Amino acid sequence: MIKLEQVTKSYKLGTSEVTVLKGINLEIEKGDFLAIMGPSGSGKSTLMNIIGCLDPPSSGRYLLTGEDISKYDDQGLAKVRNREIGFVFQQFHLLPRLTAKKNVELPMIYAGIKKKEREHRAEIALEKVGLKERMDYLPNSLSGGQKQRVAIARSLVNDPTIILADEPTGALDTKTSAAIMDLLVDLNRAGTTIALVTHEPEIAEYTDRTIFVRDGEVLDQGERRGERYS
Ligand code: ATP
Ligand code: MG
Repeated sequence: MIKLEQVTKSYKLGTSEVTVLKGINLEIEKGDFLAIMGPSGSGKSTLMNIIGCLDPPSSGRYLLTGEDISKYDDQGLAKVRNREIGFVFQQFHLLPRLTAKKNVELPMIYAGIKKKEREHRAEIALEKVGLKERMDYLPNSLSGGQKQRVAIARSLVNDPTIILADEPTGALDTKTSAAIMDLLVDLNRAGTTIALVTHEPEIAEYTDRTIFVRDGEVLDQGERRGERYS
């Protein structure tokens, strides 16, 4: 479903160039729940940004649901991104002046979905994450865990091919992190494909497969755990 072949990413810094990703090969299947681990600066977020169509690779091939998007320009990437990708971030990235429900509606506004349908789908998504009764709250009156639930609801509403979560529990205490991971496990069991970055082995334990990135390379492609795939 997602396939990266020899993907590299380099940045120009003044007159020199740094290569941050050095030939990544990676496959993610429908229904996977993948953890990406590795030291700080190893390239995890850079890799997530490429998978999430925020950035194009410098070289190599990226196939997303059979479409080779390696050479797409910003506009082409943005289209694919809005259609195929849901994002969840460490710092939630909610708009502070919008209610939970309005935040969840945002990706549907970009997708051109009409108001009635938007509101309906936002309510369903907020119910899925256990926050329907808080849908009219502003982010500031929600706890960290609740904010992350809103962000997860927002990532779901366009029924993305994959949800990408860069350290989704990084700003949460242990108990709240466990609750968020339980929610992600439930969503995955219901069919959502998820890839997340984490520094914590306990968080990676919730997933089905862990890959290790080091110095811009995937060291270990990881074995699938659990019964679901056997
Ligand atoms: P962390 O665990 O700290 O979040 P990471 O594995 O996510 O680290 P990246 O953010 O992917 O690491 O960064 C990998 C390397 O790429 C770092 O050395 C960083 O300085 C460099 N880098 C990232 N983005 C850019 C950019 N836009 N321009 C230049 N260098 C960059
Ligand atoms: Mg990072």
